Amino acid sequence: MFIDINKIDKQYLNKENQPVDILKDINLSIDKGEFISILGPSGCGKSTLLNIVAGLTKPTDGVVQVNGTKVTKPGRDRGMVFQQAALFPWLNVLENVMFPLKKMMTKKEAVDAAMKYLQMVQLGKYTEHYPHELSGGMQQRVAIARALAMDPETLLMDEPFGALDEQTRSRLHVQLETIWMETKKTILFVTHSISESIKLSDRIIVMGTKPGIVLEDIKVDIPRPRHEHKQQVMELEEHIMSFLKKEIDKVVSEELAI
Ligand code: ADP
Repeated sequence: MFIDINKIDKQYLNKENQPVDILKDINLSIDKGEFISILGPSGCGKSTLLNIVAGLTKPTDGVVQVNGTKVTKPGRDRGMVFQQAALFPWLNVLENVMFPLKKMMTKKEAVDAAMKYLQMVQLGKYTEHYPHELSGGMQQRVAIARALAMDPETLLMDEPFGALDEQTRSRLHVQLETIWMETKKTILFVTHSISESIKLSDRIIVMGTKPGIVLEDIKVDIPRPRHEHKQQVMELEEHIMSFLKKEIDKVVSEELAI
């Protein structure tokens, strides 16, 4: 076991200053090199869980260990990619990827590492471009290269393709799958897209909401590339949809009751 998420509870205070359960008794063990999707309706606590593993948010109770060490703060071993690329607009592509590396290595090493991962995301020819000259998909690839260049063992991705159009998203799925196979990183990937989670992951953690709990831990046994196995993909999609629908209905009916 590489990542151990043990009895995690998280409460936030609501407007009346009352604690509200966001995550309740989350237990997960993740092996090194696994590609895990955390799937669930909006607001179920997916980002909160990812941020706890990142060390950006403290759990109310429970412990996360990565490679035997308790997570108390962010670390170089865990790279983050968010929905928005958050690049520095005044730095070009190469400088953006090099930025976090400068404190860790010589300039030459930083250039080499940045170039290696920019080539991996197929942006080797765009090193001199500035963020505003790139499409959303390209910006997101720069962010992925920036996270990878630090060579973290784990990549934490929070809806990284959520703001992109369907075609770009599909292309990036292929690239991410290739990168994952080449680098053997452990990936935790937050999404609310059932098809995205089936396309990419070894395991899908399906979360229910209010409070966020693990509803199901599904091992995806469909061979890769998954688009060649449409029937199996469709069956799994329907299976997940059937019980996620109950969760979504629960949220909607509670909202209507307010
Ligand atoms: P998801 O990623 O599944 O959409 P989040 O983890 O972002 O869900 O949020 C889960 C719930 O926690 C939401 O109801 C959200 O409003 C609430 N929440 C998130 N962060 C905070 C915070 N800092 N303070 C209070 N409530 C929060």
